[in-house]
Amino acid sequence: MSNTTPIRVRFAPSPTGKLHIGGARTAIYNWAFARANGGTFILRIDDTDPTRSTDENTQIILRAMRWLGLDWDEGPEVGGDCGPYWQTERLDIYRNAAQGLVDEGKAYYCFCTPDKLEADRKAAQERHDSFQGYQRTCRNINPDQARARAEAGEPYTIRIKVPEDRGDVIIHDAVHGDVTFNAKELDDFILFRSDGTPTYNFATVVDDADMRITHIIRGDDHLSNTPRQVMVYEALGAPIPTFAHISMILGADGKKLSKRHGATSVEEYREAGYDSDAFVNYLALLGWALDGKTTIIPRDVLAREFSLEHVSKNPATFDQTKLDWVNGEYLAAKTDADFARDVLIPQLVAAGFEKDGERAHEDAWYELLASILKPRIKLAPEVVEKSRFLYEGSALSYDEKSVTKNLAKPGTLVYLKSAYEALSSIDADGWTASNLDEALAPLPEKLEANKRKFYAAVRVAECGNQVSPPMGESLQLLGRDLVLARLEQAYELAQA
Ligand code: GLU
Repeated sequence: MSNTTPIRVRFAPSPTGKLHIGGARTAIYNWAFARANGGTFILRIDDTDPTRSTDENTQIILRAMRWLGLDWDEGPEVGGDCGPYWQTERLDIYRNAAQGLVDEGKAYYCFCTPDKLEADRKAAQERHDSFQGYQRTCRNINPDQARARAEAGEPYTIRIKVPEDRGDVIIHDAVHGDVTFNAKELDDFILFRSDGTPTYNFATVVDDADMRITHIIRGDDHLSNTPRQVMVYEALGAPIPTFAHISMILGADGKKLSKRHGATSVEEYREAGYDSDAFVNYLALLGWALDGKTTIIPRDVLAREFSLEHVSKNPATFDQTKLDWVNGEYLAAKTDADFARDVLIPQLVAAGFEKDGERAHEDAWYELLASILKPRIKLAPEVVEKSRFLYEGSALSYDEKSVTKNLAKPGTLVYLKSAYEALSSIDADGWTASNLDEALAPLPEKLEANKRKFYAAVRVAECGNQVSPPMGESLQLLGRDLVLARLEQAYELAQA
């Protein structure tokens, strides 16, 4: 393939299920490869398996692709010159292509019944034949006779004629290097079934050739299909693209990633509140490296720097802890305004703390809350529990253990009283985190109190528990009236 051929890649999911981590990574690599090379990224829906493909799955896949930010240049919803992009809408194309090969003598009608095929296979087994594939029974039927039988209504499949002198099929794989298959082991496999549907190996090649795909980046579970697909390219007289078969993704136990390992669909990660940029970043690292040490690789860098040379042929291990860490890094790197708008407020709305479309506070309030929560969480939904105390008004829910340990003691009364005095001396205009922190700071020494115990008492009084965001900011966010009311309420609790 010449260097001037414009790069075209495709992601071709079968809508037999949701988009899974492995598929998402394949999509990311294709997208990034297209973007890094000024190429075209095509999305094609391989829905030829009618029993397992559903429209609902297609919609879920498209939604997942959108959420991942993997915009496609041709395909469903965007169109393009090589459509349709659903295989079920291309059945005539496959039929014509298969018939074309028959007309050229590169494929033939096969009338063998399933029973006959089974009997032949058994016989080959009993003979300990090294070749157990199709015995080429129909290969030499005279073409005119074959056509007459087909026209008379006899069911037939269309099989490829694998050239007998083909020799080794060598795949120059961009990830695995040269992989050699012996063409003798390839039987005359079926291209087109008697029910009018194409086989995967045929439809894929017809489409990839028709869509002028230059690089096929896909999971290495398809490596074993590749020699058959090469046979089809050769029969069609189409240029053979560059193949890049990427490794499997394993779970922590070294086994192929599956449901047993927990969430595997992109949808589940979206619902769990992952940041899509972080998710794409982490998946990109499962088998590809920028330089072997950089972990945070923003989307634009990926789209500029991705190359097949840096894709590893070794299986990658999915590490949830690392994904969570990457997610936390992305959250922490957001501006307060972005975090408030994209992470915090949606979560507060989902939790029922805030009404949809109607804010209880000014922007600055959410941004202040964003600034203190951002570095303290790894996943978006964690903001909910950390914000709860701000939305409980006079009905603060106290953590019992914290109350027993830090509040319900005679000694804390004096802490609460002096905190009340110090804070009530600040008026609403001066009610800022730094003023509030300053007002509290001298108190432990003045009271000859243990600093940690003093703050723990105030914290439980204001937030209901000991683990809450920084004091000054928390008090500022609660507002003067609520802060003072909660100190009074805590005073009563401590007395009881
Ligand atoms: N529809 C196939 C799959 O989901 C595509 C494989 C390929 O990329 O050729 O596995």
